[in-house]
Amino acid sequence: MNFEFTPEQQMLRAAVRAYAEAELAPAYRDRDTSGEFPFDVWRRLADMEITGLAVSEANGGNPGGYVAIGIVAEELARGDHSSAYLMLITPIVGELLDRWGTDRAKKDWLTRFLAGTSVISLAVTESSGGSDAAAMRMKAVATPDGYRLTGEKSGVTMTMAVDALIVFARAVVDGVDKGITAFLVPMDAPGVSRHPIDDMGARSIGRGIVAFDDVLVPVDYRLGEEGTGFREVMIGFDCTRVILALMSIGAAMKSIEETLEYARQRTSFGRPLAANQGVQFPLAEHHTKLEMARLYCYYALWLRDTGRPHTREAAACKWIGPELSVAAIHDCMILHGHYGWTRDLPLELRLRDVIGTEIADGTPQIAKSVVARELLGRGFVRLDGTVGR
Ligand SMILES: Cc1cc2nc3c(=O)[nH]c(=O)nc-3n(C[C@H](O)[C@H](O)[C@H](O)COP(=O)(O)OP(=O)(O)OC[C@H]3O[C@@H](n4cnc5c(N)ncnc54)[C@H](O)[C@@H]3O)c2cc1C
Repeated sequence: MNFEFTPEQQMLRAAVRAYAEAELAPAYRDRDTSGEFPFDVWRRLADMEITGLAVSEANGGNPGGYVAIGIVAEELARGDHSSAYLMLITPIVGELLDRWGTDRAKKDWLTRFLAGTSVISLAVTESSGGSDAAAMRMKAVATPDGYRLTGEKSGVTMTMAVDALIVFARAVVDGVDKGITAFLVPMDAPGVSRHPIDDMGARSIGRGIVAFDDVLVPVDYRLGEEGTGFREVMIGFDCTRVILALMSIGAAMKSIEETLEYARQRTSFGRPLAANQGVQFPLAEHHTKLEMARLYCYYALWLRDTGRPHTREAAACKWIGPELSVAAIHDCMILHGHYGWTRDLPLELRLRDVIGTEIADGTPQIAKSVVARELLGRGFVRLDGTVGR
């Protein structure tokens, strides 16, 4: 057993931490206020060869593995939790295009994605409900010219910034539903329209609603076979769920470090705040729990790197990481007194941002259902609540 990052991972960690501290953290508040998308960060990640960490060398990537992706996400989140969202698209979009992109899709989109000149995210959720993703309604009707997509996606990360979306819809061939299928849809395709959602956090990243009105998508832009989309997105979530947890933990750990420093400096009743067990214990408790969750996240990513099953571990990280992080940042605010509640400190901003990670890619209820299903057996508890044998 070896709990150390490799020398390459340590170098990556140091480089991203230095970048996050020097360049991201000072602009975190401004980005939240202006809502400006961090295109510069995406390009910088491309320069650092991070955008291709989940893409094979044959397709222009730099496959450094999932632990490396987690390291970058955690470190970016220490400086600017919103910018760390870019580490969600890095694996899921990169992998889908790498594995399933046709030569045309790779040439048109993967190259620009890796170069940091195109942003692409994923559209799964519909306004009728996101938890039961398998019940999605959007249709892609096969025609001699390609697929015609009609429907609406909601809650899509980076909606106003993306150049293309990987859209999941039911392929319908000769009137027969072939199942959920992934399609690459350029945002300038006729019939696509979008508008933003006014979120409480991750405001520089933004989310939105995208409508598809009889949008023609060439067969070359179908990613994988008809009916394989749901499985593919779930494989992707087994990674992004851990990344979301690490993002929240990065922001929470940074908040604890700042609070430790404040508790050393600030005095009350003639002694430092840090001299009180009432101040020490919450910090010790949060640090302990977060460190345990953090190790579990890297364990889950290591399982993925080594090709082992990790659905249960990823779902467990997904509910526990953000939950612990929200609680930790909240206590850090309290320990800063009234000052903690101001916009002068990043605590309220981190709290707003981190709450989003509780919901994205599956709420705590859904994550716990996945863990229970894995423990009890797939046939026993279904996500729709029915019990099988
Ligand atoms: C920051 C953020 C980023 C996101 N990014 C994307 C994105 O890029 N692309 C995308 O497609 N979507 C995205 N989403 C949407 C997200 O995936 C959905 O919001 C999420 O899956 C929940 O779906 P819903 O909002 O429709 O809630 P619903 O499914 O309507 O659920 C409402 C509530 O009921 C609970 N619930 C539902 N079913 C059960 C059950 N069986 N048992 C117990 N409780 C249940 C849920 O846990 C939840 O609390 C994002 C959301 C957020 C907040």
